[in-house]
Amino acid sequence: MDEKASGFSLEMPKVGVIRGVKAKDVELVGGKVVNLRICARPYSNIYSVTQLRAIKTVSEQYGSGKVHLSPRHNFEIPEIRNKRIDDTLKLLYVAGLFPGGAGTSVRNIFTCPDWCSQSVLPTQEIGKMISTNFGDRDMPNKFTISFAGCVNGCSRPHNADVGIIAVGKVKVAKGNCADQCNKCVEVCPRQAIEKNGGKVLLKEKNCNFCGKCVKACPQNILTFASTGFKVMIGGKEGASVAFGSVIADFVKDFELLEIIENVLQKYQEKAKFRPASQKKKERLTEVIERLGLESFLAD
Ligand code: SF4
Ligand code: SF4
Ligand code: SF4
Repeated sequence: MDEKASGFSLEMPKVGVIRGVKAKDVELVGGKVVNLRICARPYSNIYSVTQLRAIKTVSEQYGSGKVHLSPRHNFEIPEIRNKRIDDTLKLLYVAGLFPGGAGTSVRNIFTCPDWCSQSVLPTQEIGKMISTNFGDRDMPNKFTISFAGCVNGCSRPHNADVGIIAVGKVKVAKGNCADQCNKCVEVCPRQAIEKNGGKVLLKEKNCNFCGKCVKACPQNILTFASTGFKVMIGGKEGASVAFGSVIADFVKDFELLEIIENVLQKYQEKAKFRPASQKKKERLTEVIERLGLESFLAD
């Protein structure tokens, strides 16, 4: 469509200035083609059919007909003809897709899909809340935040710079149940529930707060007494793998945001260049290894 003839005008997003996203999201290959990494803004890691159509069109018309879905749910469209990058960005922009998710910034927040039956809290809504507050922020090095809807951790929170898991404390209505279905006992992975006649006994020290028994109970006799977030920091994937350390448990939304903000600020203040480099700064896990967790969190 001719924009001028139709009266349609669009302020073109320029690579390098879109919501703090840098030119690093566009990789120039041999001066002729670019590889483009994109994400949805406002945040979602569930893509609509309209967005998928836009990606298909771009890939077919300006690229090589290939796309890749990255581990953090960014789409990568390789080999877009350099001359068509403006057309590409315009088409994606209209569909709510922007270059992003690379380099030394808070990468795409990685969450579970909304519809998983095991989810203790609404994953996409919380992913959006985290992304709105911290997404794309410039950092000393790559920074990953992953949120899982339950302790199964499918979005790999244990190996993220900040890993968040939704957890739920279980309660038994009136402390007993006449039903003999025994589903709660069967699904519990930690032998934390016993059925003794009409009595349901919870052994909290065995419980990992996964919520499976609540989901399985057909009579709503088991419910959540409270839900919240477990927070881990300093996890990492890649050439050297690290598991995050738990720094908070059963915190609520606002506390979670405060904790993440504090960790990001401390990381920005305390990260140094790696010993052999004046270009690359430490990842969070390296800062924590150097200082110790307590000193890292101290003012
Ligand atoms: S971590 Fe839990 S909520 Fe998320 S996808 Fe896995 S099973 Fe579902
Ligand atoms: S929350 Fe999970 S571990 Fe705890 S009692 Fe229920 S099923 Fe068992
Ligand atoms: S799953 Fe619910 S209804 Fe079934 S035995 Fe357990 S508490 Fe009772």
